[in-house]
Amino acid sequence: MNETYKAVEVYEPGKLRVVERPVAEPGAGQVRIRVEACGICHTDAATVMGSYPGLVLPRVPGHEVVGRIDALGSGVSRWKLGQRVGVGLIAGEDGVCEPCRRGDIVNCQNPVISGVTVDGGYAEVMIAEARGISSVPDEVTSAEAAPLLCAGITTYNALRNAGLHGGDLVAVQGIGGLGHLGVQFARHMGFRTVAIGRGRDKEKLAKELGAHVYIDSASEDAAVALQRMGGGRAILATGTSGSAMGSLVSGLAAPRQVHRGRGAAGPDTTECVSTGVWRALDLWELDGHAD
Ligand SMILES: [Zn+2]
Ligand SMILES: [Zn+2]
Repeated sequence: MNETYKAVEVYEPGKLRVVERPVAEPGAGQVRIRVEACGICHTDAATVMGSYPGLVLPRVPGHEVVGRIDALGSGVSRWKLGQRVGVGLIAGEDGVCEPCRRGDIVNCQNPVISGVTVDGGYAEVMIAEARGISSVPDEVTSAEAAPLLCAGITTYNALRNAGLHGGDLVAVQGIGGLGHLGVQFARHMGFRTVAIGRGRDKEKLAKELGAHVYIDSASEDAAVALQRMGGGRAILATGTSGSAMGSLVSGLAAPRQVHRGRGAAGPDTTECVSTGVWRALDLWELDGHAD
């Protein structure tokens, strides 16, 4: 077979080119995917600029990938040809390092990283580790689903792991690639949702996405504004500036007293949650089977 596919590769720092490559067969435990959509994430810049630690060029960036499986490697039994799947940044663990052996595979010391250690989704075809992919529900389009594989997972997991309760005041700082998803998750999780942006440009969008309140941090101190509302139970900081995030910490509410199991009382936490890197399989089901 001499079929080829197009890919966009970084061939030297800061330089991309379209190349034609032969379609390869997936190896053991891998699937081959016909890419339907790939999001663009700020982390891709580290591949494009050649600055990601350990990166060797040429490399195809892209770690918000959705496509359909068109070939199964040996030993792959839980996925079907034609099935639509997603691939995120952390796309496979080695299974043998200490974090993996403790079941903490998201902190694997030798992970498969899409667009860094392996070629990613800026291409018509991508090879992925079957253990690292997620199924994609039929009701979302591939273009809608793709950004959820990184920007969506980071904000969703930050919010759902922050120990929050329905009705809590949750602020989302920065209404960009991550924040516009964070606002929607926060609202749909039942939080009183405050969007924080610089200037009024994003106010209309933030409200349309579900924010109850918009704070313009260019015209008022966002931390003071949050305190006026009782303080944020969590602040999802998506800005790229550490100082902008740091200044918000004083907008957090005082820790609340909660009763834990067996009658023991202890302080609950308030959190300034930043985003982290998570696996595609945290987003949807673990594999292609609903049963
Ligand atoms: Zn990303
Ligand atoms: Zn590992």
